[in-house]
Amino acid sequence: MGSSLLQLQSDVAACTQCGLAKTRIQTVFGEGNARADLMLIGEGPGQDEDRLGRPFVGAAGQLLDKMLACIGFDRNSVYIANVLKCRPPGNRDPEPDEASACIGYLRAQVAVIKPKIIVCLGRISAKYILNPDIRIMRDHGVWHEVKGFLIMPTFHPAALLRNEALKKDAYRDLLAIRAKYDAVCKGDHS
Ligand code: URA
Repeated sequence: MGSSLLQLQSDVAACTQCGLAKTRIQTVFGEGNARADLMLIGEGPGQDEDRLGRPFVGAAGQLLDKMLACIGFDRNSVYIANVLKCRPPGNRDPEPDEASACIGYLRAQVAVIKPKIIVCLGRISAKYILNPDIRIMRDHGVWHEVKGFLIMPTFHPAALLRNEALKKDAYRDLLAIRAKYDAVCKGDHS
């Protein structure tokens, strides 16, 4: 990991900018390839992530690994992070003040990693990264270009676990992500 990511990670570990610092077991910074062209951003740690200090390690994470594998990626070829670095108690949605206290860390991660493609996993991620009024059923799979980043909202893997019928649409989004990656990233690891 680059030194500025390490610095950021230790800043996050010491963070007390919102009330979640009191209820977390530990912070969950993010992990993967610090030079990745593809970055996936979820909502925030759940119980397993809070316990282990790594993103997407519970049931949703196992599905995320399969989703990545089906388009030829793994955790070493992408970077995975969350909008929130601390678990909201009971996995409730983040409060706006928690998200605004935390989003600067995510912005700093993006600025260091400089991915070409960002995938927002679920409504909450897309709400804070793209558009507060996003509706994931309506808006998933659509590409946005923001400040030079190509950004697509898609379903959160936990939503796919709850509703298998969404998997067909999610698969289409994954194929579009792979196609975009091949078009804009392949062979370019500078
Ligand atoms: N859900 C998320 O949004 N992020 C995680 O890290 C785990 C579950």
